[in-house]
This record gives sequence, structure tokens and C-alpha cells, in this order.
Amino acid sequence: METESVHCFGIKKNALAGLSLEKLTDMLQPLPAFRAKQIFRWLARGVRSFNDMTDISLVVREALEKRFSLYSSVISQQLSGNDGTVKIQITLEDGCTIESVLLADGKERKTACVSTQAGCAMGCVFCKTGAIGFRRNVRAVEIIEQFLHLRSIAAFSNVVIMGMGEPLLNLPALREALAFVANGARGGTDDAFSKRRITVSTSGIIAGIHDLADNGPDIRLAVSLTTADEAQREKLMPVTKTNPLPLLKKALVYYQRKTSKRVTLEAALLRNINTSRKHVDLLAEFARELDVVVNVIPWNPVAGLCFEGVPLQEPDEAEVGRFIAALRGKGLNVTARFKKGREVAGACGQLGFFSPCV
Ligand code: SF4
Repeated sequence: METESVHCFGIKKNALAGLSLEKLTDMLQPLPAFRAKQIFRWLARGVRSFNDMTDISLVVREALEKRFSLYSSVISQQLSGNDGTVKIQITLEDGCTIESVLLADGKERKTACVSTQAGCAMGCVFCKTGAIGFRRNVRAVEIIEQFLHLRSIAAFSNVVIMGMGEPLLNLPALREALAFVANGARGGTDDAFSKRRITVSTSGIIAGIHDLADNGPDIRLAVSLTTADEAQREKLMPVTKTNPLPLLKKALVYYQRKTSKRVTLEAALLRNINTSRKHVDLLAEFARELDVVVNVIPWNPVAGLCFEGVPLQEPDEAEVGRFIAALRGKGLNVTARFKKGREVAGACGQLGFFSPCV
């Protein structure tokens, strides 16, 4: 993994977070290996300053502070909602900003949602990030730093790669970051993270799904389907033009043959757009031969987003209830995700409310 650096008062400092234990040990020489291991463990916990490394002597902490920074990125804004959601804006080394979210699933359980791109090129019409456009891929170390920044706020038990960007268009960096996060124990920490508790959500990048099936990592896959009406999906999610639904389905069949894993189909419901009986039938047809659970997500409002000249609206409860009941009537497993994170604009499709990139 490349070493990141930040400029601080004109002095270029190398950042330590995200380095493997071996590289960290090298970097910290002449400190002994056991000291490097102690520092590695602190870094893996998302420590906020060298001073928090309480089992390291003050002299060593001061020396570290002079030579290194903890992270290449900084938390530049933080918002907390009454539902327990915390959204952070992270400013990267080049001034570009991304957002990450801690979603509360009940009192104890928290899920970290991280970004893989600054902005997004996919242009889904219902998504704030899509409206921003694409700035750049997030580097592996910057993905790791999102985990660590979130961990400095609260522990979490699940991870969703559903933040800004299309993860399967930045798969090498994601792979590297997940390997690091999932293999924390190899570096001597107790913070290893099971890949089974990591979900990657794609807009339907067929080549990426094949790549995942063939080369891993062994995570859970979610596809943001939204609608199985091909013509409508081309308009709602332009990615469909180059990744058509029949080929997407073939890719998912291939993925399931290789991995035997259930896939989540996400359906963001837009009032009077993709909730009719026809949409239920098409979705059920798409799901045939696949082992899926459908996750229904009533659209999270974003001002100014339109479809065919009409402002998008969230569906009311009755519309959502009818849609779910009809899907269940077709024998599909359905879950629903309601309004989590909206208060801080940290819900699905809402990321980018902080100034997107500078
Ligand atoms: S929904 Fe996902 S893929 Fe689509 S524009 Fe938003 S971030 Fe990009």
C-alpha cells in the first residue's frame, strides 16, 4: 500500500493509518517491533491523536507527532441525528470531499457506510451523489481511513459499501481496503472484521460482478435494481444502457453458481413511478431463478431531483405497503428500510449535501 502524506505548516508528514504492520514497523525504525505493534493496534482502533496512545511514553509520542500524521484525511464536518445516525464529511489530501455514515440499527447495532468514489459518474436520477458528477476514485488507504474515522466515533458491527460512488468501478482499491479491514487480526489487533458482515452495493456493473464472482472478496452483494422495466431503468439509471438487464441477470446467475450466495435486490420506491402492478411482475420475473431478498427502500427525498420534468416524491405508506404485499404475493422474500439517516441527509441517495468537492 502506498504511503500517504499530508502537508502541515509546510512540513510534509507521512500518514501512518492504513499501513500494514510490516510497513509500519519499517517506517517507525529505530523503534522496536513491539512498539510498532502497539502503535498499529491504536491506529486500528481509530485513535484521534498520538496523545491517546496511552501505553506509549510521552517522549515517543512527541517524536511521532513531529514526524508523522495519523491520517492523510481529516473529518471536516460531523452531523448527528436523533435516531443515532452520524454523518461525517472527510476532506482528502487533495481537498476533495467524501461522506461516510454510521447508521444505527437499534440501540447497540451500528452499520458503517463508506464511499468508494468522490462523486459518481452513474447519474442515477434519484441520487444526490449522481447529480454531483464524478471527481475521482477513492484510494485504498482513504477507504480504510473512513473505517477508522467512523470507528473513532463508535464501534460498528456491519459495513455497507453504499456511500458515494459505484464500488465495482473502483474494485482494486476496495479489495485492498477490505483485505486490510478483514485481516486486522494478522496485524495483531482484535479488530478483524468478518467479510460476511460486509455488503457491497452496485448499480449493476456486469464486468464487476463477474470479477467479484471469480476473484472475491467473499462479501455480500446487493444490486440497486430500482425497476426491472428495462426502458424505464435506462432513464432512471443510465448504467442500464451499457449493462442491460438480461445480461445483468446472467451475471447474477453466474455469481450465484460460483458463490452460492443470496443477493439483495434493492428497490428504491419512487411515488407513482416504479410501484405499479406491472413493476411488481417485472421484478418478480427478474428474480426468477435467482436466490434473492428484495430490500424495499422508500425514496429518501432530495430537493431538486426530477424524472421526466416532474419533481421526484417519496411514496406514501399505502403505496409502499401495496408494493411489498404484491411482491410477497409472488413468493419473494422482502425486507424494508425506512427513513434511516434522513435527519442528517445520510440516508441512501442523499450523500453529497456537504459541498461535494472543492
Ligand atoms: S445510486 Fe449509487 S451508483 Fe447511482 S448515482 Fe448514486 S452513488 Fe452513483
